[in-house]
Amino acid sequence: MKLTFLGSCSGTEPMPDRFHTSYVIEHNGGVYWFDAGEGCSYNAHLMGIDILAIRTLCFSHCHLDHVGGLVNLLGTIRKLEGRNEDPSKSITGHKIPVRIPTLRVWQGALDVLQGPSDTLQLPFECDAQTYTDGVIIDQDGLKVTARHNRHLGDPAPEAPWQSFSFRIETENQVIVSSGDIKHVSEAVPLIDKGCDLFLMETGHHQVDEVCTYLMENDVPFGRLGFFHHGRAILADPKGEHKKAQAIVGDRVFIADDGTSIDLG
Ligand SMILES: [Zn+2]
Repeated sequence: MKLTFLGSCSGTEPMPDRFHTSYVIEHNGGVYWFDAGEGCSYNAHLMGIDILAIRTLCFSHCHLDHVGGLVNLLGTIRKLEGRNEDPSKSITGHKIPVRIPTLRVWQGALDVLQGPSDTLQLPFECDAQTYTDGVIIDQDGLKVTARHNRHLGDPAPEAPWQSFSFRIETENQVIVSSGDIKHVSEAVPLIDKGCDLFLMETGHHQVDEVCTYLMENDVPFGRLGFFHHGRAILADPKGEHKKAQAIVGDRVFIADDGTSIDLG
C-alpha cells in the first residue's frame, strides 16, 4: 500500500511547486484516487503512476480545490487509453465507482469533457453516486468508510451532508483522512481504536492546535501527515514542522507534491 500526494495545497492562488489537493493509494495493482485538485493527472503521469489502473474516484466534497482537475483527469485517461498498446493495461470496459457528494458537479465535468461534440466517449463506464455515512467503497481488499463533517455547515432538514472525512483500510493498514473539516475532533470517530496514519488538513487549522488536541485527548494515531496546506505552512514549512515535532515527536511530516509513503 503506497500513498502519494499529487497536490498538497488548499484553495489558495497558485503557489510555487504545489497544486491543489489530491492523493492516490496504490494497492494490489490498483490506483485509488481521492479528490482531484488541479494538476492531479499531470503530476500522477509525470511521477510514473499508472493512471489506467484507476479503480475508484472518491471526493470528500466539491469545492474547486478538490475537483478542479477532474476534467483533465478524465481527459488524460481517455488520451492514455488511446495510446495504450498493452491489452493487460487497458481500461476499456472497466466500471469505475465514483463517489461524490454533489452529483451536479460530476455532470458538469462530463459536460466540459464533451465540449462541442454531440457524444461523450469514455472508454470506461463510470458509476457515479452520492453517498452518506458508512462504507462507500469495498473493492479488491480496500475499504473506504465515510463520515460527515461540518466543513460546509449543517444541511437543511432532510438535505444530505456535503463534506466528509474518510477511513481507508486494507488488511493491515488504516489511513484516516480529515478532508476539509471544521474541527479535528470530527475525524476522531473514524480513528476509532487506532490508525496507522492520520492525514489532517491545514487549510483551516494550525499545526500546534491540532497536535495539542490529539495528545491531550489520547487519540491513537501512528503517524501524522499534514496536507491541504494553508498560509502558515506555505510561508514556513520547516518552522511549522518543528512546532509539530515539539508536540508529537518525529512521527509527523508535512506533505509536498510528490511525497510518497510506502505503508507496507
Ligand atoms: Zn479545500
